[in-house]
Amino acid sequence: MLVFSADSHIVEPPDLFVNGLPSSLRPRAIQMAVRDGYIMTVTGDRVIHKLRANKPLSAKTEGAPASAVRLGTRDLAGRLEDMAKDGVDAEVVFPSLALWTYVLEDPELELATAQVYNDWNDDFFSPHLDHFVRCGVLPVRRFEDTLAEMKRIAARGFTAAMLPSAVPKGLPAYNDAAWDPVFALAGELGVVPVLHTGTGLEDVVVERGPGAAVINYTRQMIDAQNSIMALVAGGVLDRNPKTQVAVIESGASWLAGLAERMDEVYRAHAVYVSPKLGLRPSEIIRRQVKCSFQSDRACILSRGVTGTEAIMWGADYPHAEGTFPHSREVIRGLFEGVEISEREKADILGGNAARLFRFQAPAAR
Ligand code: MN
Repeated sequence: MLVFSADSHIVEPPDLFVNGLPSSLRPRAIQMAVRDGYIMTVTGDRVIHKLRANKPLSAKTEGAPASAVRLGTRDLAGRLEDMAKDGVDAEVVFPSLALWTYVLEDPELELATAQVYNDWNDDFFSPHLDHFVRCGVLPVRRFEDTLAEMKRIAARGFTAAMLPSAVPKGLPAYNDAAWDPVFALAGELGVVPVLHTGTGLEDVVVERGPGAAVINYTRQMIDAQNSIMALVAGGVLDRNPKTQVAVIESGASWLAGLAERMDEVYRAHAVYVSPKLGLRPSEIIRRQVKCSFQSDRACILSRGVTGTEAIMWGADYPHAEGTFPHSREVIRGLFEGVEISEREKADILGGNAARLFRFQAPAAR
């Protein structure tokens, strides 16, 4: 059974953007800095994100328990070693620094950052396509750049490209027909727009009071719900039926609830509904929306609503909240007490993602 993680990350070289951008843009390059006990992600003087520097992410973290050591945070050989240890055959890989591309308001800087990341990602992963799917980053401040960059990476064989999970302020929302050319081209080229949680937000920390950690991490699914609701209700997916959209690290069990609720509203409030859609919202979701999940089993129990092909398991390696090095146990637990065929298990654990991202397992090559 192929185990394909639909959610993983590579940490780019710390100087990737500082060295890679044209010199005029370098002062505002996204980079990480360790300051005052925090790992800060900055662009120019602006702190985009800060995390207390106690998360065991790399082999170099002193005093970290052996189970917390990740060999593949930046290193490919170490990554393959960890994957073998954890029972993961293949991954689609998202960035770390470049997750913050969408906070860059200057279109030139946003475009150049996406291009530097995409070129690096291509060089890094192309020799290892038997284990990895490349996912690019698309700029969105100017849609002509979005289209040009999608064409550029599709020509190199990329089958996935990120768009923001929450549309940054000032841009048309996902229910706006302005997005149609982007989703049309994605469908035409077979590039899957990928919405990874947290992208496009100015700040992922909205709550600081009691329960803040639970609230901030749980609400990661809200951007995905809003964006899928907008893409479906506004007609962008209806008008571009070949385009598949993947929502990553937002959980998946909400998809069935969203589909049924949207159907109910679409029917009950038909007199107010505009635009009219060619299919019911749940049918559009079933045809075009895929979600990754780690351990929320409710998406498996509700697969009759979304279709089994909508759900894809992911490990979120190398993040501390991911399933490494216990992915085998997590996977076993997913199906306990669930009546499900071996075929469906294989699809959820790898087949769905492999087909979506046009990954060919080495055995099939
Ligand atoms: Mn992730």
